[in-house]
Amino acid sequence: MLDVAIIGGGISGLTAAYQAQRRNLTYRVFEASDRWGGAIHTINSLQGLEEAGPETLVGKPQVLELCRELGLEDQWIPASKERPLVLKDKHLLPLPEGFRRLMPSGTKAVFQSPLLSNWGRMRLLMEPFVGQHKGDESVADFIRRRLGEEVLQWMVQPIVTGIYGADPEHLSMESTFPSLLKREQEHGSLYRSFRKSPPKEATLLGFRQGLSHLVLTLRQKLKQDWLHLNSPVLAFSPCGGGEWHIQTKDQRVRARHVLLALPAPTTSSLLQSFAPEMAALIRPIVARDVAVLCQAWPKDKVQVPEGGSLLVPLTQGLCFSSCTMAHLKWPGRSPWDVVTTRLLLGGAGREQFLQLGDKDLIERCRQDLNQLMPLQGDPLKSVLVRHPQRLPEYPVGHRQRIADLLELGQAHPTLHLSGNWLEGVGVADCIQRAISVSRLWKRVRTPEQAAAV
Ligand SMILES: Cc1cc2nc3c(=O)[nH]c(=O)nc-3n(C[C@H](O)[C@H](O)[C@H](O)COP(=O)(O)OP(=O)(O)OC[C@H]3O[C@@H](n4cnc5c(N)ncnc54)[C@H](O)[C@@H]3O)c2cc1C
Repeated sequence: MLDVAIIGGGISGLTAAYQAQRRNLTYRVFEASDRWGGAIHTINSLQGLEEAGPETLVGKPQVLELCRELGLEDQWIPASKERPLVLKDKHLLPLPEGFRRLMPSGTKAVFQSPLLSNWGRMRLLMEPFVGQHKGDESVADFIRRRLGEEVLQWMVQPIVTGIYGADPEHLSMESTFPSLLKREQEHGSLYRSFRKSPPKEATLLGFRQGLSHLVLTLRQKLKQDWLHLNSPVLAFSPCGGGEWHIQTKDQRVRARHVLLALPAPTTSSLLQSFAPEMAALIRPIVARDVAVLCQAWPKDKVQVPEGGSLLVPLTQGLCFSSCTMAHLKWPGRSPWDVVTTRLLLGGAGREQFLQLGDKDLIERCRQDLNQLMPLQGDPLKSVLVRHPQRLPEYPVGHRQRIADLLELGQAHPTLHLSGNWLEGVGVADCIQRAISVSRLWKRVRTPEQAAAV
């Protein structure tokens, strides 16, 4: 019998497996696909290195500690701090400084933004007099109430769709931007709060050899015989004494603990047979389909706008929600004569474009990108990576839902949940959750017995 069966080989599952390994526990990791890393997907070619999944990692303490332990400190590179541009009626206009995480470095920057009309600016002046809302609400309702419709339409919606692939009308404020909500609660006004304590920008890091290097390093530290690709878990169920039976495509194992490190929809369907109430709580957490198109262009054939990335509000009708100029954001990753672009496709309001086949989708991207930066000739490279059901959208009331879920989970103390749909979508959140969950595992074999498994 295993100490732990880990289902899902994304960053959550691999981080958890590494923790099991450090503690001499016996484990197996079952991954449905033919590659490790889940959403993390670095593409390396002659035309440069690009991220077809996540690009950046927030430098949270536990994450930095893990990277240090793995000997990856020399891999860190800071993301360039160029301000994103927002497409507004055929013009690319800068987002106020620091606004990327909805934390402007100063209220003046927002007030003076060319993205707002005079009416939008007048509306901002009312912010200190707006009353508070009790309980959770959607990001759209919060921003509309405090800062007005224009800030929502031209600043917040492009960020929320361009980074989270989500719809601000449904997204929980409490679970997505808790520090902004806290500022309202503590000061009664964002304006007063920002004046009193200007926010510090989070450290955003990339990896010199791409985020897949983190996946590779973790994987190399694990026992290779205990890692199973192409092994979707079809079912699992309690088998008495807190133990579990896990059924994959071609094997059946018993384990003392089970960790589900899966997207929300798969977690819900695997729980359905023996924990239908838990499954029902998870079901409403939507996981959006997104895709990333990485392209490389000869520098002399492209007119590149200034700015590290472009954000496209839904109203502008383009098929992508953001375009990162990867060669500007990550200097040194591409040859000097190459421009690399990374488009985020799909997500809320843009699902229809993902119905297109690869060839048609790439052509549509080209037409749309051409509106922002005139392109001549063909790209040197185009890689399209689809991420079905990869980006969760936390609905209003998410925090309470998770609290209720974890309470129900107490009926199964050897069942553990991890993944991006619980307490944070980012890679760093997933790592943190996986580390804290793994602390609950107890060994059922001695290290000598473990070595013999
Ligand atoms: C395009 C994109 C851009 C992003 N950008 C950023 C960013 O810049 N910064 C950031 O911090 N975060 C970003 N994120 C979010 C972050 O990458 C993910 O939330 C995180 O990597 C999720 O990790 P995970 O291990 O929880 O889940 P996943 O990576 O989804 O892994 C789950 C794994 O479970 C496997 N699986 C599914 N069903 C089964 C089954 N039945 N049996 C066995 N295995 C199964 C899947 O194949 C998958 O490998 C981005 C995500 C995407 C998709």
